[in-house]
Amino acid sequence: MAGDSTRSVHEAEPFDEETGSVTAPIFETATFGFTKAEDVPKAVSGEKGYTYSRWDNPTVVRLEKKLAAFERGGGAAAFSSGMAAISTSVLSFVKKGGHVLAIRDLYGGTYSLMHELLPGMGIGTDLADTEDFGALERGVRENTKIVYVESPTNPTLKLVDLAKAAKLAHRSGALLFVDNTFASPINQNPLETGADVVLHSATKYLNGHADVIAGGAVASSDRAHRVRMTRRELGGTLDPLPAWLVLRGMKTMALRVRQQNENAMVLAEFLARSGKVARVHYPGLKDHPQHALARKQMRGFGGMLSFEVKGTMRDAMRFTESLKVAALAASLGGVETLVSQPANMTHTQMSAKERAKTGIPDTLVRVSVGIEDADDLVSDFGRALAAV
Ligand SMILES: *Cc1c(COP(=O)(O)O)cnc(C)c1O
Repeated sequence: MAGDSTRSVHEAEPFDEETGSVTAPIFETATFGFTKAEDVPKAVSGEKGYTYSRWDNPTVVRLEKKLAAFERGGGAAAFSSGMAAISTSVLSFVKKGGHVLAIRDLYGGTYSLMHELLPGMGIGTDLADTEDFGALERGVRENTKIVYVESPTNPTLKLVDLAKAAKLAHRSGALLFVDNTFASPINQNPLETGADVVLHSATKYLNGHADVIAGGAVASSDRAHRVRMTRRELGGTLDPLPAWLVLRGMKTMALRVRQQNENAMVLAEFLARSGKVARVHYPGLKDHPQHALARKQMRGFGGMLSFEVKGTMRDAMRFTESLKVAALAASLGGVETLVSQPANMTHTQMSAKERAKTGIPDTLVRVSVGIEDADDLVSDFGRALAAV
């Protein structure tokens, strides 16, 4: 199989048959006409041809092929957001009376899904301590259908042993779901270590330019088909135009992520040396408690890191305001460096008590490292820390 950079450019991007167009056409159409009525049933079943763009669309299908290839899956389903991918995939494999076991360190929207929406539908959920694999083992029940993890986690970059989690899920007949948004498919492919469904907020590294909201789920071809069938009903389909933007973004994903991996390492080492920083969370640092696991299951350590500013919530706020190259904004995975303060922005769905349990102090700053010159980032962060 070709390498990541070659596949970034060429996977699922044949020249258009009719015109020779080098880039994928944007099939901005709601519906598809037939000349032969006998072709309709195959299109409706999803076997061949197209019927209606909430179901399937050729531009979106190209994105799904590219994403499946990157994650080494048999198939994929693209969505109008990462949360649509997550909720639709979960609801494809668990029904009323079933149970979902997840780690406590979840993306905010997923946390709300587990904490409120699923229980409201008669689906049991439990959150296990992320650091304690034993808690996950003890949490599995007879009716557990899904074990749901993220690795590295948001925002404290904890890791879950994905191979062990897959074995645990499979022992009790459950599926392992992995949100792979933070790592990106360049650094980690959970399907290769036994995961069953991989989820992405394509808004982040896949698209990479902070200009689209989109999501994806990757699995075996049968499971991906099942997710696409649920998507038909729940309706979180991706429109062809943003699908095309994600396709375009993915062509530079390997390049971008490699640069982000390098920049994040430089910045993490700089922050670890700073007298104004109490603690740095980055799996690439040798003193990260799970550095050995990171080396085992990741090819690169990623562009996400977080650190605790010495002092108070206000000191951390002053730091985030004082940056000039990096911007204070939610989201991640784009070409520009962004910082956020979880207690003040992305983790307000959690109570202060729940945040404390998850190890999110008020002084924590999360960084999504971009593709700028590492020297410029280091001097920007140095200047802003001096202002604290
Ligand atoms: C952003 C994000 C999501 C949600 O994705 P949207 O595209 O915003 O719906 C889910 N998981 C993780 C880890 C994310 O960072």
